[in-house]
Amino acid sequence: MTRRKLIAGNWKMNGLRAAVAELDRVIEAAPDAACDLLLCPPATLIGLFSTRAAGSALMIGGQDCHPKAAGAHTGDISAEMLRDAGARAVIVGHSERRADHAETDALVRDKAEAAWRAGMTAVICVGETEAQRDAGAMLDVVAASLIGSVPETATADTTVIAYEPVWAIGAGRTPTLAQIEEMHGHIRETLRAHLGVVQGTGVRVLYGGSVKPENAGEIMQVRGVDGALIGGASLKAADFLAIAAAS
Ligand code: PEP
Repeated sequence: MTRRKLIAGNWKMNGLRAAVAELDRVIEAAPDAACDLLLCPPATLIGLFSTRAAGSALMIGGQDCHPKAAGAHTGDISAEMLRDAGARAVIVGHSERRADHAETDALVRDKAEAAWRAGMTAVICVGETEAQRDAGAMLDVVAASLIGSVPETATADTTVIAYEPVWAIGAGRTPTLAQIEEMHGHIRETLRAHLGVVQGTGVRVLYGGSVKPENAGEIMQVRGVDGALIGGASLKAADFLAIAAAS
């Protein structure tokens, strides 16, 4: 089965309204991309960016959502609110949220279901720490996190997985191509067992962690890599587009 590649940018807590200039460059180039494009700015920019990107080939997404639709949760944003602002996808379970906000697999799973409830795609992140890789536990850790974080009803239309080794995020170093291939193969097998062969084969699995224009070409060629989730390099339209062109 052919899975169309997805290049997704995560701006994290970066970007003011002036950054719309970068967005416009991406929108302009988006029709030429041979892959799907998703940009996840901070929540404050989702409305502005979605309006600007309306009708273009670029999707706008959120970086997190609360599992509930509404209620007394000061400072939180629901999936319905993101969708209302124009988001079409939301990242859930990013390692920075898991670490900074003690998010568990069970909570991430609830957030993924909230994304679907609001009519969005859930981009569910999993990945091992450096200590877990050094201990040789990475395959078990990632499989357990997938099973805990991905609802059994996930489908290729509603869900994307991002494999992001925690030690590679923002670190300027990446796993070897062989390590990426091994993990993506393992994730695919785990998804087939967890979701059934059809959906487990169709769900896209992205690689994330220090992807740059310089290494994107070789990483995108790795068997089982269906695109990338990009942090730092997504802040500049030229880098983001160069990665998309390399996919
Ligand atoms: C990320 O945080 O999702 C990420 C992949 O960051 P970076 O590309 O900066 O390593």
